[in-house]
Amino acid sequence: MTVANKLVELSLPLIPRRALWLVAQRYVAGDDLPAAIDAIRRLSADGFGTIIDVLGENISTTGEAEEAAREYHRALAALTDVDRGCVLSVKPTHLGLLLDRTLCERLLSDLCIAAAGQARRVRFEMEDSTTIDATLAAFAAVRRSHSNLGCVLQSRLFRTEADVTRLLAAWPDLSVRLVKGIYIEPKEIAWTEPDDISASFVRLAKQLFDGGATVGLATHDSALAQQLVAEVRNRGFDRGDIDSRRYEFQCLMGVRSEFAGQLRDAGHPTRIYVPYGKDWHAYSMRRLKRNPAIAMHVARALFHRDG
Ligand code: FAD
Repeated sequence: MTVANKLVELSLPLIPRRALWLVAQRYVAGDDLPAAIDAIRRLSADGFGTIIDVLGENISTTGEAEEAAREYHRALAALTDVDRGCVLSVKPTHLGLLLDRTLCERLLSDLCIAAAGQARRVRFEMEDSTTIDATLAAFAAVRRSHSNLGCVLQSRLFRTEADVTRLLAAWPDLSVRLVKGIYIEPKEIAWTEPDDISASFVRLAKQLFDGGATVGLATHDSALAQQLVAEVRNRGFDRGDIDSRRYEFQCLMGVRSEFAGQLRDAGHPTRIYVPYGKDWHAYSMRRLKRNPAIAMHVARALFHRDG
């Protein structure tokens, strides 16, 4: 990151919310469900799979967790005739993981039942390292009864290899989204060099494939994707019915769309993550901080501040 970008990153919290929204819009479908359904219809027509996410995290009351769950149920109802494979993606702290784990597990379990009614899958996301033990415990509790639930694992963390071993011992047919990890973690528990994080990503993908898992390879990194494509080709996973493959690529809405298009055009199942909702702020701030062209976007947003 350049000094200029670092300065802009530090000044992000000072930017008026309305101006930030202008930039954030590239990363979120909109602030309500109809906007998300529109985006999903468009992506589906373009040959992409989709993932729907109701924005929100670290809520402070159990009522908010229940409201988040209700919104996911509304999303399911609205999805009835839209992209039959669209996956629900849920942040653990949005369902109240840190407030009341029993409630979180109940809400997640109810969501898995409703999703199974439409033959859909649910993905329990992964947040920063302080939440991982609780997330995996809640995941295990619900996964025991609901095989349509998958989890997310982060390649930047040293612990993930052991987590994979444990999870595969319990569920060889596990469904995992593998990511680098968006949260900055202490060097005592995580790789900090990009090459180390990518090397770990490839090792974990192999470990998961060897164990029988289905893997969502969630990255926009072309060099890493090349290695992953070689891996799925070597294993013959890129052949046969596209809907029953052992892998897919996953990308975020608004991030390197041309790259996602190339993967789709090369015949790889490719799914786009579509977040929506009024709580777009924390999510968009994380995305903006990762964007190397951030200075330009923010400058544009400030220019259009009154728009
Ligand atoms: P990078 O090396 O970060 O980026 C590769 C390329 O993409 C670079 O050219 C970079 O410039 C470009 N790029 C990356 N981000 C942006 C951006 N915001 N704007 C513009 N260009 C960008 N992380 C979690 O910790 N938990 C989760 O549950 C989680 N779920 C995810 C779900 C999906 C579908 C995806 C795609 C990612 C998810 N992530 C999650 C985020 C992930 O951990 C990474 O932080 C993110 O994908 C960026 O890493 P990368 O592998 O794309 O590689």
